[in-house]
Amino acid sequence: MFHAQILTLFPEFFASPLACSIPKRAIGAGLAVVDCIQIRDFATDKHRSVDDSPYGGGPGMLMKPEPVVAAIREARSRRPESRVVMLTPSGVSFTQEKALEYAAASDITLLCGRYEGFDERICDYVDEQLSLGDYVLSGGEPAALSVLDAVIRLLPGVLGSADSAVLDSFSEEGILDWPHYTRPEEFEGKRVPDVLLSGNHAEIEKWRKEESLRRSAKRS
Ligand code: SAM
Repeated sequence: MFHAQILTLFPEFFASPLACSIPKRAIGAGLAVVDCIQIRDFATDKHRSVDDSPYGGGPGMLMKPEPVVAAIREARSRRPESRVVMLTPSGVSFTQEKALEYAAASDITLLCGRYEGFDERICDYVDEQLSLGDYVLSGGEPAALSVLDAVIRLLPGVLGSADSAVLDSFSEEGILDWPHYTRPEEFEGKRVPDVLLSGNHAEIEKWRKEESLRRSAKRS
């Protein structure tokens, strides 16, 4: 079973997306477990503060080390084998290869930042820093959710057809998926390619391979 822990100030963020579609099915079937740990529960002052202003001045607030590190320690004590991954724009890029790696590891702890990010010293307490891409989100939660979604659909038994994930974009040496069509045969003058209606499976396979390569070359 895949086990995820999410360290966050907003556990409620995850309730609705995880109660839909594929994540819902995976969790319902006991193939995945997602636990949230509220970072604020580890604040020690009377205001339960988790952020403070940056040394040296500047805008915004930073996540304080004490509650975040205490929350990481709690996560590690609950799941000693779990890899602790900090979501940050400064991290390495999240890719399909990473998703496969996390699915195989079957235990992950995702640390979500807010405000202007983390006090730098927190980096010493995580195993890995991960970015969703070269843009800035307002919090780590949407990034953690994307990671979870991409990983959960790769878990054995989650997708209906065993082939669905194997044939997705990026699964084979970074190659993109081919174009797909469904009924009707013609929509507003745009026809489904003849080869797909031919019933010739060898030709269809050849066409799909060529289209995948053409798309991949065009994007790179
Ligand atoms: N000041 C930070 C910077 O410029 O790198 C951005 C902080 S952002 C407003 C707040 C939090 O959102 C971050 O600590 C991180 O957890 C999350 N976040 C924002 N963009 C992200 C991205 N591209 N990938 C992963 N996490 C991201």
